[in-house]
Amino acid sequence: MALTRPTRRPAVKKAFATPVHHSENELEIPKHQLAEHGVPIDTAYELISNELLLDGHSRLNLATFVTTWMPSTAAKLMADTADKNMIDKDEYPQTAELEERCVNIVADLWHAPEEEQATGCSTTGSSEAVMLSGMALKWRWRARLQKAGKPSDRPNLVMGSNVQVCWEKFCRYWDVEARYVPVEGDRYHLGAAEAVALCDENTIGVVVILGSTFDGSYEPVKEVAGLLDDLQSEHGLDVPVHVDAASGGFVAPFIQPDLEWDFRIPRVQSINASGHKYGLVYPGVGWAVWRNKEALPEELIFNVNYLGGNMPTFTLNFSRPGSEVIAQYLMFMSLGREGYTRVMQYAQDVAMRISSGVAEMGPYRLLSDGGELPVFAFTLKPEVENYTVFDVSDRLRMRGWLVPAYTFPANLEELSVLRVVVRAGMTLDMADMLLEHLRDATEFLESLDAPLASLQEHNQAFAH
Ligand SMILES: *Cc1c(COP(=O)(O)O)cnc(C)c1O
Repeated sequence: MALTRPTRRPAVKKAFATPVHHSENELEIPKHQLAEHGVPIDTAYELISNELLLDGHSRLNLATFVTTWMPSTAAKLMADTADKNMIDKDEYPQTAELEERCVNIVADLWHAPEEEQATGCSTTGSSEAVMLSGMALKWRWRARLQKAGKPSDRPNLVMGSNVQVCWEKFCRYWDVEARYVPVEGDRYHLGAAEAVALCDENTIGVVVILGSTFDGSYEPVKEVAGLLDDLQSEHGLDVPVHVDAASGGFVAPFIQPDLEWDFRIPRVQSINASGHKYGLVYPGVGWAVWRNKEALPEELIFNVNYLGGNMPTFTLNFSRPGSEVIAQYLMFMSLGREGYTRVMQYAQDVAMRISSGVAEMGPYRLLSDGGELPVFAFTLKPEVENYTVFDVSDRLRMRGWLVPAYTFPANLEELSVLRVVVRAGMTLDMADMLLEHLRDATEFLESLDAPLASLQEHNQAFAH
């Protein structure tokens, strides 16, 4: 998505109101400048609602991980609490209390050991949580090297080339060298041995993802931690692990409870997750948790007293909505462990139903099947020459489905795939309709007797 730029487009555009809304059918409203005089708010509401009809149907968007459906009661509570500012903990102590309860719930879900006194906060999403967690790693590393009297100007961070863009941002914004382990062959995410081989005394940490945005697979947290344990005993290097559980943080605790990926592993120092992904809240909330006080250096925390009270904060933003956090607490309270398990298990059943249907169609090969995150990716078999995954994506778009096609990162740039993200709100019935439409699209494309001239640019923007 391009940045919005200051526009030199004609300032005055006609907006068409209907006779019901306005006595004249046409209104002169500048679209890129503030009008001298406004219009009645009902007219504005109508005009904006009309324009937004051109956005996609979010429920048919199988590209995004972000919540597109909440119970209407949740939407009501969010509207009721739209005036609350999360930062203003003195004015809204009960909102702050709910945030604290959520941090405790999340830390408990991720098995933070009670005696270590985990600490954490809400954020605007995983991206902000990642910036905070990355900074904590960098500050700790620097303190360690300074104490040892060593230079601390060349930090690096080790991760797979399949990381979400927020990690690339972190490295660029905070001057950290990004060391990528390329994906290769049949390995579509971070390899443990490959990651550890890139570590040295300037490594601030290793990022392990649960699960990868490219194919929904879980990276091997325990294996990475184990090899880093060996590295420490053999070479004295103590490299912490951060788990980017943007999606998996609210999936694995419920449907893969025996999978050890979290604070059960001592080397895991911090974890982030998106409340607005499988946490089941509309966009605008994430979580970061550190296993203990040592994992979050004191000097990163600011105490502000000008809102009344003395509040420790660790955020990049200042003001932001409190309603997001309130909605998270609502979902925790109304679903409970049993409810989240039910929702996640259903999403997985739907994902696996679709993936097995896709595999049976013939021309497709699955990279993953939805058995980890309820997300899977598939590609075309090499013998398919007349069309590409981009054409399949286009044909599905005609039926309203948004199933993105994209290429893999280094070293698998030649691999292009389609991906389906199943979220709450997608039913088995919808799954069957999607399969039917995919079957139609595939039959049409298979009936071509020459290659289709593809209009799609490869390597197009990838919707994480
Ligand atoms: C979505 C995602 C992010 C970014 O999360 P936001 O909440 O959208 O900021 C980071 N890492 C992974 C693995 C993701 O899937």
